[in-house]
Amino acid sequence: MATTTKTKTKVEDDHTPIDIDIPDNYVAYTLKTQKALPPVSWANIHKEINWLSFTILTVTPLMGIVGAIFTKLRWETFAFAVFYYFVTGLGITAGYHRLWAHRCYNASKPLEYALAMAGAGAVEGSIKWWSRGHRAHHRYTDTELDPYNAHRGFFYSHIGWMLVKPRRKPGVADVSDLSKNEIVRWQHRNYLTLIILMGFVVPTVVPWLLWGDARGGYVYAGLLRLCFVHHSTFCVNSLAHWLGEAPFDDKHTPKDHLITALVTVGEGYHNFHHQFPMDYRNAIKWYQYDPTKWFIWTMKQLGLARQLKVFPDNEIHKGQLTMQLKKLRETQEMLAWPSDSNDLPVISWDSFQEQSQKRPLVLISGFIHDLSNFIEEHPGGPHLLIKMIGKDATTAFFGGVYDHSNAAHNLLAMKRVGVLAGGMPHGLDDKAIPPSQRLKIARYNELSSPYNSSAGQSDGEGMFY
Ligand SMILES: [Zn+2]
Ligand SMILES: [Zn+2]
Repeated sequence: MATTTKTKTKVEDDHTPIDIDIPDNYVAYTLKTQKALPPVSWANIHKEINWLSFTILTVTPLMGIVGAIFTKLRWETFAFAVFYYFVTGLGITAGYHRLWAHRCYNASKPLEYALAMAGAGAVEGSIKWWSRGHRAHHRYTDTELDPYNAHRGFFYSHIGWMLVKPRRKPGVADVSDLSKNEIVRWQHRNYLTLIILMGFVVPTVVPWLLWGDARGGYVYAGLLRLCFVHHSTFCVNSLAHWLGEAPFDDKHTPKDHLITALVTVGEGYHNFHHQFPMDYRNAIKWYQYDPTKWFIWTMKQLGLARQLKVFPDNEIHKGQLTMQLKKLRETQEMLAWPSDSNDLPVISWDSFQEQSQKRPLVLISGFIHDLSNFIEEHPGGPHLLIKMIGKDATTAFFGGVYDHSNAAHNLLAMKRVGVLAGGMPHGLDDKAIPPSQRLKIARYNELSSPYNSSAGQSDGEGMFY
């Protein structure tokens, strides 16, 4: 690790990607060799607190709440606070996140400056620091090298990771492209001035100049709006890895949920986002709530953004299909299926005749079925079954007397007790394989096996005797 740290200092200056010489076993090696700080407990917490973030994240809401108790809220100030929440929120979502951390599109200089300023108003660190952590989050999702590892619990991934000193250094993630970006560098250099200006001065001065409410502006559009923006962004790391569905992939924790989208200016389709991080969209359906996408799209119409990246639809649908098949497979595994010819005893014609004297056995499609307990329930009446005991009823079952429903065929297959020796010619798969088994979900390693009940029956080989 010592060499990696040294390399980092060296290369960050000359804009070479930091991970260019990364070892092949980087993750395992780092987790094994890099020392992590001890777990935080009541005994050591006083030494482990990250005082700067701790103060920002606790004093701001306290001052906001106390301020709100003693400050009348005017509707103009309220409307402006909500508006400014979206301005600074978009600075993070459309700027920090989708533009800089993920390069989902290219922005014109004026738009980049505007987003860099708006993002500073959210007081979440500089673009460079934020994007570096976020790229590590995507690269090492759900591991100890992910700075806000969701496996450490909701609280830790939401805010805990900033309240204490990082337990380990986030995994290596290259930001050399950002080091070369003049606007990112400008923001980094002037960060303190920009957070004071955009975080507090602008939200105080605008309501003061327009309707004479400087104090309300400071409390509501400054302090409280900042708390909302903070927790809105933090929800992307906590709520979006905890609540909802995984329609694209379930390998990791990210999830899709409308509630998360509503509280994060549209970053709630996080399962999609982790699968297709360079897509400028988080929500792919027009009716899903993704104002960040709408904003970027509008900027494109205004000529301020271009090259909006979109992942190929075909690949997106593959992910969705895989997840749908997984669910269907679970349902398939919950159901009882008929025995196939490999599991059933092979019975001679004579033995079939003999056993039919003792119980109602009927031959259909080469399978011998035991119809005990069913004769009285047969919708067509018991007499039609009784006269077929000990006989081949294939023709009668498949349309000769009544063309049975698929459900009837499925039920019939559940009553199989044997296979007639030499009793079935080839080429009658549709009669031997019940409708419920003609289309099934098979895992790739089951496809060639003659012993599975899903796809191995397709050619009929090994099935009939
Ligand atoms: Zn995430
Ligand atoms: Zn992301």
